[in-house]
Amino acid sequence: MPELLSELTTLRLGGPARGYLRCGTAAQVAEAVARCDAASEPVLLVGGGSNLVVADDGFAGTVVHLTGADVAIDGTTVTAAAGATWDDVVAATVDAGLGGLECLSGIPGSAGATPVQNVGAYGVEVSAWLDAVQLYHRATGETAWVAPESLGLRYRTSRLKTPDPTAQADVVLAVRFALSAEGSAPIRYGELARALGVDPGATVDPRAAREHVLALRRGKGMVLDPADHDTWSVGSFFTNPVVPQDRAGAVVEAITAATGEGPPQYPAPDGVKLSAGWLIERAGFAKGFSGGRAGVSLSTKHTLALTNRGSGTAAELLSLAAEVRDGVFARFGVELRPEPVLVGTELPAPTGRIH
Ligand SMILES: Cc1cc2nc3c(=O)[nH]c(=O)nc-3n(C[C@H](O)[C@H](O)[C@H](O)COP(=O)(O)OP(=O)(O)OC[C@H]3O[C@@H](n4cnc5c(N)ncnc54)[C@H](O)[C@@H]3O)c2cc1C
Repeated sequence: MPELLSELTTLRLGGPARGYLRCGTAAQVAEAVARCDAASEPVLLVGGGSNLVVADDGFAGTVVHLTGADVAIDGTTVTAAAGATWDDVVAATVDAGLGGLECLSGIPGSAGATPVQNVGAYGVEVSAWLDAVQLYHRATGETAWVAPESLGLRYRTSRLKTPDPTAQADVVLAVRFALSAEGSAPIRYGELARALGVDPGATVDPRAAREHVLALRRGKGMVLDPADHDTWSVGSFFTNPVVPQDRAGAVVEAITAATGEGPPQYPAPDGVKLSAGWLIERAGFAKGFSGGRAGVSLSTKHTLALTNRGSGTAAELLSLAAEVRDGVFARFGVELRPEPVLVGTELPAPTGRIH
């Protein structure tokens, strides 16, 4: 049993939990969660711990750690237990000649957590290939396969993602994907298309796409490496902000006037998506910025990753996050929101703002 949550999170931050249950099968997960719910014991589900910021005081409840690793491929269908390591699932599909998930190579964590925030990278989101999700419904105690449409999957969120571990959100027990035997997903991301030497929209060998994605991600510290503190993170700490359509023109104009450059912008269903990393850099936070903090800093490879340099605390990391959020707001009037799930803690309130 790990003594501290820091042993289960990629940030290596977080104090003790009251209880710990390691579950290798779907039945064990359902039983553990049911037992805790019946006793009104708060439950924190943990897969790879790569999207969690846990308080230094720890978690006043029981950690249910999902470790079942089964992966089955049948034709173009792949089914994975929630605890399976996500990148092992991607590697198995690519090795089987199946396309769809290759752009999601190298994302840490478990298969079961991928629908939770609809993980995405290099122009692909998991929702594009998800066929069904097996859920344990905590309200009824029933287990059922459901269609992805019922999960409210949107940009880095779903109805399964809740900052409150006592909210009793449903538990993912397994995921199923319907993949392609006709090559990769269309390569939409410019940087990846250039690396592969193809036009955006082209389809390639999934193996080649996976190799290039992993190389690009390593260059940004986005593939876990215990020896590299730049990867002691939750990946991107902030989501890319989406500015509502009716405000987008004015916001982009103000940013252009302030920086002398037009910001990168992408169409989004509810407005215009800006690049959080670009805004952070233009607000004066360079790679490696620590603001005088000893134990944490922005990654030296990517401004969007907040990292533990080895002696950091969750409080220190969140104070750095608040400084970056407030700096971007002060310069551009754009609010950055955290992407990870914060457990037992929160971002310090904004300073110097009138609401
Ligand atoms: C270096 C690095 C790079 C990253 N790059 C990306 C990226 O490119 N794109 C991206 O989208 N994300 C990225 N992430 C974030 C993270 O890897 C993903 O969000 C991942 O899916 C989290 O999986 P996990 O198993 O580690 O979840 P955990 O951190 O263990 O849990 C995250 C949340 O999901 C809940 N949860 C976990 N398992 C289940 C389950 N079975 N059922 C219901 N709820 C569950 C937890 O309670 C918690 O609220 C990156 C992280 C790191 C450290």
